[in-house]
Amino acid sequence: MSGRVLVAGAINTDLVATVHRAPEAGETITGRSFAIHSGGKGANQAVAVARSRASAVMLGGVGRDDFGSARKADLAADQIDTSWIATIDYASSGVALITVESSGENRIAYIPGATAKVSPDHCADTLNAIEPSLILSTNELSPECHRVLFTWARGRDVRVIFNAAPYSDDVVELLPLIDVLIVNEGEASALQGGAPDGMSPQELAAGLRSIGATDVVITLGAGGSFAVSDDEPLTVPGYRVDVVDTTGAGDTFCGALASRMLEGATLPEAVRYANAAGALATTRSGAQPSIPGREEIEKLMEQGKKLPWGSPQGGHGLRRKGRDSNPREV
Ligand code: ADP
Repeated sequence: MSGRVLVAGAINTDLVATVHRAPEAGETITGRSFAIHSGGKGANQAVAVARSRASAVMLGGVGRDDFGSARKADLAADQIDTSWIATIDYASSGVALITVESSGENRIAYIPGATAKVSPDHCADTLNAIEPSLILSTNELSPECHRVLFTWARGRDVRVIFNAAPYSDDVVELLPLIDVLIVNEGEASALQGGAPDGMSPQELAAGLRSIGATDVVITLGAGGSFAVSDDEPLTVPGYRVDVVDTTGAGDTFCGALASRMLEGATLPEAVRYANAAGALATTRSGAQPSIPGREEIEKLMEQGKKLPWGSPQGGHGLRRKGRDSNPREV
């Protein structure tokens, strides 16, 4: 194994209240239970990189508060280098206030806090100090930070893997700076201004390449994934697993893929590995607790049974997104 992966993105705390129904304006209701979960797509992906035994450095921001300290401790417990997480004095750590109703409906108020305040200068300092071999980024830091990260990589032949989630319009202009773009079907469509319903993953990927993307990976939930690079297009079926909670499957997929690419795996090899990692993440509840390690992933690759390839909805229609697709700002 050579070098380190710099993982750029949000480090959040999810505060989850389970309630019979959500309160109306001005109303107080008594809920059923409360839980605190480590989150942020960036942090989840860093954990996935580390559990696949690659060396990860986290780039992000927290406030000077208990949540920030606790999230840094979580990452450090997974052997992730936290020394480039900026502590921002005038912002809170990223927090998602989530109510989950008996019906299963979620309501989320997301405060990016320190994540939105990470400066392009801090990104440049981190790059120059760490000199990563690979950059894995979500779409959670500012567009200015992304431009610094990706431009630095381009000048040095360092590969950039970008998970364009949560989706925002400014991603399109970054596409030429990205080596591997990872999106789900909803994000693939949004990047093209809302592709018509029923487009196949192949058509979505071709559309993304026509607006500047190079290698494209589209995740398809239980349907597996589709990848296209300069070589052959690749269809990878999902694994048949007992699904408990799909939260964090996409983040696990991205981190696992990056860990293999750091070792020099080809895109098809990395996508096959990531597909097994994503499937395992659905078999346990929560985001970070459900992220599998390398042995478990390799075992599923050897022994697992496959599902039919393609969108689980059939017809490749757009899927409703779960709560790990938090909007950048509310
Ligand atoms: P996101 O949460 O970002 O929309 P997906 O739902 O597409 O991401 O899931 C990412 C990956 O996790 C998929 O490409 C697949 O490999 C795996 N995965 C997700 N859901 C399932 C499932 N129900 N069964 C098997 N694998 C799954």
